[in-house]
Formats: sequence, C-alpha cells, structure tokens
Amino acid sequence: MTLHLFDTYARQERPFAPLEPPKVRLYACGPTVYNYQHIGNYRTYIFEDVLRRALEYCGYEVHHVVNITDVGHLTSDADTGEDKMESGSRRTGMTAWEIAELYTRDFQQKLEWLNVLAPHVWCRATDHIDDQIAAVAQIEEKGYTYRTVDGIYFDTSRLDDYGYLARLDIAGLQGGQRVDLGEKRKVTDFALWKFSPEDEQRQMEWDSPWGKGFPGWHIECTAMSAKYLGSHFDIHCGGEDHIPVHHTNEIAQAQACYDTRLAEFWLHGAFLQLDGEKMSKSSGDFLRLESLVEKGYDPLVYRFFCLGARYRAKLSFTWESIDGAATALNRLRSAAHGWGEPGAADEACIAQFKERVEDDLNMPRVLALCWDLVASDLPDAVKKATLLHFDQVMGLGLAEWAPQEEEIPAEIQAMAAKRQQARADKDWAVADQMRDEIAAAGYEVEDTPDGPRVRPLKS
Ligand code: AMP
Ligand code: ZN
Repeated sequence: MTLHLFDTYARQERPFAPLEPPKVRLYACGPTVYNYQHIGNYRTYIFEDVLRRALEYCGYEVHHVVNITDVGHLTSDADTGEDKMESGSRRTGMTAWEIAELYTRDFQQKLEWLNVLAPHVWCRATDHIDDQIAAVAQIEEKGYTYRTVDGIYFDTSRLDDYGYLARLDIAGLQGGQRVDLGEKRKVTDFALWKFSPEDEQRQMEWDSPWGKGFPGWHIECTAMSAKYLGSHFDIHCGGEDHIPVHHTNEIAQAQACYDTRLAEFWLHGAFLQLDGEKMSKSSGDFLRLESLVEKGYDPLVYRFFCLGARYRAKLSFTWESIDGAATALNRLRSAAHGWGEPGAADEACIAQFKERVEDDLNMPRVLALCWDLVASDLPDAVKKATLLHFDQVMGLGLAEWAPQEEEIPAEIQAMAAKRQQARADKDWAVADQMRDEIAAAGYEVEDTPDGPRVRPLKS
C-alpha cells in the first residue's frame, strides 16, 4: 500500500505522491489572533501534526508553512462587518498589534504543550502586505477585479468552475440571496483589498495602488503559500469550515494568478462539537486548553482524545470522554514505562501499523493496535520498541514520560540527611533512630549506587 489521503477537491481518497519527491510542501491555515484558540481549533492542528508526522514517517522531507492571520479577517464571511483584530482590540483595551503578539505567543506555547511540531515557516499576514498587494495587482491585470466604494473585489463570474472545491450551487446561492450586497455584484464575489472607512481611524492600514486600506482575508494565504511553497504545491489543509469560502476563494485567486488550483491535495479536519454545536470563538463561551489543565488534565490527554476519532468525523466533547482518555493514556504510559528499555520492534506489528496510517491516517485503529500490543505476549523490550515506533506518528511523547516523583517534604529530607551523616560517623544508634522516624512519617530510605533515595512507603 501507499499513503492514501482523502482529497476534498476530488471528494475521494487518493494515493499520495509528492510533486517533487522526496519533498512534500505542506501549507496549513493558522489562527486568527484576535482571541485565544479553543480546543476545537487545536483539534485541527493535532490532525495536521499527525499528517506531517505520517508524511515524515513515510520517508518524505516535509516543508511545513503556517500563517498567522493578524489582519483582514472580518466578522462576517460576506466581507461586511468589522475586522476581528480591531474588535478584539476594543474588547481587551490593548492595541491590535499587542493582541496579535499576545495570542500568537499563547498559540505557539499551546502547540508545544500538545507535542505539535513547529512548522518550518511561520508567516504573518502583516509582514507580507507587499506580497498581497502584488497578488491583487496581478489578479487585476488579468481582468478579474472590479472596484466598489469600499474595496477591490474578485469577480467570481469570470471563472467557470468557481466553487468546485465546495461543490457550491452557484445558481441556488444567487437565487436565494437575501443579503444586501451593497455594490458587490454577486453574492460569491469577495474583497481582495478593503479601503479604510473614512469615518474611522484603523490601527492597521497601508497605502496601496487603490488607496489606503488592508488586504482581504483570503489573499494572504494564496500570496504567502505561493511565496514559500510555489504556485502549485502538495497539500493544503485547514478545518472543514474553510471549504465553502476561504479555500474556495484561495483557489479562485490562484486560478487567476497562476492558473493552478494551488494545491494537489486539499485536506480538511472535521469540527469538535460541544452539546451538538460546533465550538466557535464568536459564541464567546468556549473551552481553552487551560480549562482542561485547570481540572488537572495533562494537555496530551486532549491529544490522545483526538486520536480516538478519525479526523474526518465530527467529535463531541464531553468531560466523561476526557476522563476516559486520561485513564487510557495513563494505562498506556505506565505499561510502556514498566517495559523498561526498548529492544527490537516487532515487524508484523509495524506492518499493521503502517497499513493503518496509510489508510487516510486511521488513528483509532492505531490506538487499537497499541492495546493489542499491551495484551500480547511479546517480550517487554519488543513491546516497548514497537510502541515507541508507533509514537513517531501518534506524538504522545511516550519515550519521555516517567511517573512523577512525589515531592518529599523538607523535614523528611532533613531526617534523611541526618541519618546519612550518622552512618558516615558510624553512629548506628542515631542512624537507626532516624530510619524509624522516617518510616513513622510514611517514607523509607533506599540505599542506591547514587546515594540514599527517599520515597513514600508502599501502602
Ligand atoms: P481561526 O482562528 O478561527 O481562523 O481557526 C483556526 C483553525 O481552527 C482553522 O483551521 C479552523 O478551520 C479551525 N477550527 C475552527 N473551529 C473549529 C472546531 N470547532 N473544531 C475544529 N477545528 C476548528
Ligand atoms: Zn488560509
């Protein structure tokens, strides 16, 4: 078998082959940094991390680019409403630049907590205004734009297959439209460049050939992905909400600029749901990774929980299932720890593992294989090596995990030091007395080659 991935563009699983092997060029849409990311967002980054690890596991050299949307994402997908950054600034009392910095850092830190590998390139929209202006100019030159009072728009009627990715019913969309389009000609047309409103001082605005303003949301991803990965690269991914608007428009822009569909494969992660509804930042009531940590869960419990569902299936969040994930992960960790040093991995298990990864990243079946391994009668060293092999893709940090040493109170440590001194002085009576006092306090001293170690008495 070879790696098969579900390509939204083709609406089917296709065998994956890089355009320029062994390189794989991968672009993932990053966060809009006007607020914290919620655990739903992190589900998508965990899926993308498993994808990246699977590609590396298959021997490819992945070049991974993630953007930071720090301007231009409006509160409405219809190109009306406020820039999310400006409204975030008002909400927090910080400048748009300050919140961009704050939430970007927080996001990057949380990715570390989740063992998500950092991309090779982080790119911010505000660092690439010139590239975006150049892309808009190119689209304009090819005749795909028109001007309205509030911006430069992409004329989607110029593309015969506009909306193919999402299988949009263009006639239906236009017939059923009830929204006020302003000067926009078609409901699907979208802003490439927006003018700064005359009655409002924006914090983020730039000069352009069309007037002072800021780029539309979709142009940043077309311009930056093409800049870092070329105008036709291997894989573009994001959450499923990006299919009908954001990725559809990225493709339209790429068709106008380069006559490509930008990426060979389009992959989308399904949403995390809470009480049957999608988790979203705009609803105001969302769970952050901290919400889990505050309740005592290791962030990797969340990663483990996500691995329990296929990335294309919706996943419902409940505290009971997080609890179940915590118990299961601890079972796996303790088993692995107890197996000691790794030996040689089991080839038959590895073949099964590879097959499951190649089946469009079937992580629930990989987890099932872990439990088969735990239950098997293979020697411990083989089990350990095999599990660590699986962990190259699961990313649970199993090699690094060790049971937490319980904190030994200072007075117990002082008693242990006194016992040690007494032994050095050959004062056996005091040494014995200390040992008894330590035991009475619920601890024991073990003499190891590295010196005495205090630990809680086993009950
Ligand atoms: P945003 O910060 O809103 O631009 O979203 C960042 C990423 O999270 C995008 O790839 C979204 O598609 C994804 N996303 C948003 N909400 C969810 C959710 N409830 N479950 C999974 N992914 C999501
Ligand atoms: Zn994007």
